[in-house]
Amino acid sequence: MRVGAVSAVGPVLEIVAETVAPTAACTGCGAVSGRVHSRYVRQLSDTASSGREVLIRLRVRRLFCDDSACVKITFAEQLPELAGRYARRTTILQQVLSAVALAWVAALERA
Ligand SMILES: [Zn+2]
Repeated sequence: MRVGAVSAVGPVLEIVAETVAPTAACTGCGAVSGRVHSRYVRQLSDTASSGREVLIRLRVRRLFCDDSACVKITFAEQLPELAGRYARRTTILQQVLSAVALAWVAALERA
């Protein structure tokens, strides 16, 4: 997960993030593909421990399945931790927030 822009819009902390894995497994047949069809944005929100609402705009890819026997022509990249609604929100939030923290630490070290 790579974090792009982080901005505070009123009481909301807005974070743009995207996945960085070069390939993903087809949700129909499991074949691995790196051929990107398109990208779209999933919005996730949660309330951080600080009480500030966090809005994550996560860019997710849709990929082609190259297996001609597969029923799927394209498939949306799945994140393994997307199992449940609650798990999805908290796990991604934690990943994004730790990526933000690492980026801030790196920026502080450069300063
Ligand atoms: Zn497939």
